Amino acid sequence: MFIDRSKEAFKEAKEVIPGGVDSPVRAFKSVGGTPVFIDKGEGAYLVDIDGNRYIDFVQSWGPLIFGHCDKDIEDAVISSVKKGLSFGAPTEVETLLATEICSMFDGIDKVRFVSSGTEAVMSAIRLARGFTNRDDIVKFEGCYHGHSDSLLVQAGSGAVTFGTPSSPGVPSDLTKHTLLAKYNDIQSVKKCFENSSDISCIIIEPIAGNMGLVPADEEFLKALRVICDENGALLIFDEVMSGFRASLKGACGLVDVKPDIVTFGKVIGGGMPVGAFCASGEIMDRLSPDGPIYQAGTLSGNPIAMSAGLASLKKLKTTANLHNELSKKAKKLMEGFSESAKSAGIPLQTDVRGSMFGFFFNENGVKNFDDALKSDTDRFALFHQKMLKNGIYFACSQFETGFISTAMSEEMIDEVIEVSKKVFKEL
Ligand SMILES: *Cc1c(COP(=O)(O)O)cnc(C)c1O
Repeated sequence: MFIDRSKEAFKEAKEVIPGGVDSPVRAFKSVGGTPVFIDKGEGAYLVDIDGNRYIDFVQSWGPLIFGHCDKDIEDAVISSVKKGLSFGAPTEVETLLATEICSMFDGIDKVRFVSSGTEAVMSAIRLARGFTNRDDIVKFEGCYHGHSDSLLVQAGSGAVTFGTPSSPGVPSDLTKHTLLAKYNDIQSVKKCFENSSDISCIIIEPIAGNMGLVPADEEFLKALRVICDENGALLIFDEVMSGFRASLKGACGLVDVKPDIVTFGKVIGGGMPVGAFCASGEIMDRLSPDGPIYQAGTLSGNPIAMSAGLASLKKLKTTANLHNELSKKAKKLMEGFSESAKSAGIPLQTDVRGSMFGFFFNENGVKNFDDALKSDTDRFALFHQKMLKNGIYFACSQFETGFISTAMSEEMIDEVIEVSKKVFKEL
């Protein structure tokens, strides 16, 4: 396989864009080699600028549950484009999409749209702080909630500590309000509440997808609900990745726990830049213009993005058995990988939630970030390079989640499993 044009394009990009990319993971730093530059998508496939085709398990990092160039979404976008790109005034399609979302979830009465997952979570945190009149938040090591200041906090080593910023440019004055707890460990959360009486909210990925795929135990989530209720704090489910992916109703559809605020992104925009945060009317009415908590956006609720989201959500709701089918394929893939690994004598941990799948090159099961960090990232890097050479595109880090789209056939999954038999033997 030749990627000469990609190599050249990467060199040129690096001259004018830091690291050659607009989001760091795209640079392939943790797996080595050159990122391939994409020309176009075709259903389940990506085509790079050298003309190589790849089965795509990244799907733009989650949004494309129907694969590339889905006809229904494409049609919705094109007809919206013809009416104008942006108005900065209300449009009916925003109400339609909000109505679809509210009708799906008990306890969600209102939705505010923004343009990214980062913005959705950042705004949800402000809302929780404003609503409770408290400053501290509890977040979990290994959970990613976008790159806003108070959420970009380093995972400390085990102990519950006051957060330190994980990036230069983030003032520690700000992150001192971020308390870190350990995923799936209720004692660490209790400690946070012993240390602070100023906790506004707990924010969690109920199915973590940003340290690899690590679902929270239902009992753990239930215990978070109880702690929040006892202490007058809000529970925020960050479903930017798991929303409409893990099940039609995301993690909310799989566990019997009701959060106070939910954030969405990725699938909700069908491939266009959309984020959303939602809650009961009591909470949402505290937002500007009805309430005092300020939040705004020039391109928020953009009609084209809303049209793509609406077409996508409607299709998700009306396609019978969709998540079961996706889950069946994800399970088949992970069972195939497990067998390939076993016959090659390589320890591998796998998990599936709906259309999300994950695998760790790890001796033991993974329950939290510390466990995930014990994975063999060198072996993953080799795996990634070899799969790519065989025309299979996985996320370029051990700590990411894989995605199945409806464009993927059983035959494609079989094909990938066949390749994995060969590749695992070479690791
Ligand atoms: C991707 C992601 C975000 C950030 O969304 P962006 O659209 O990249 O800003 C936030 N939370 C979770 C759980 C995510 O997976």
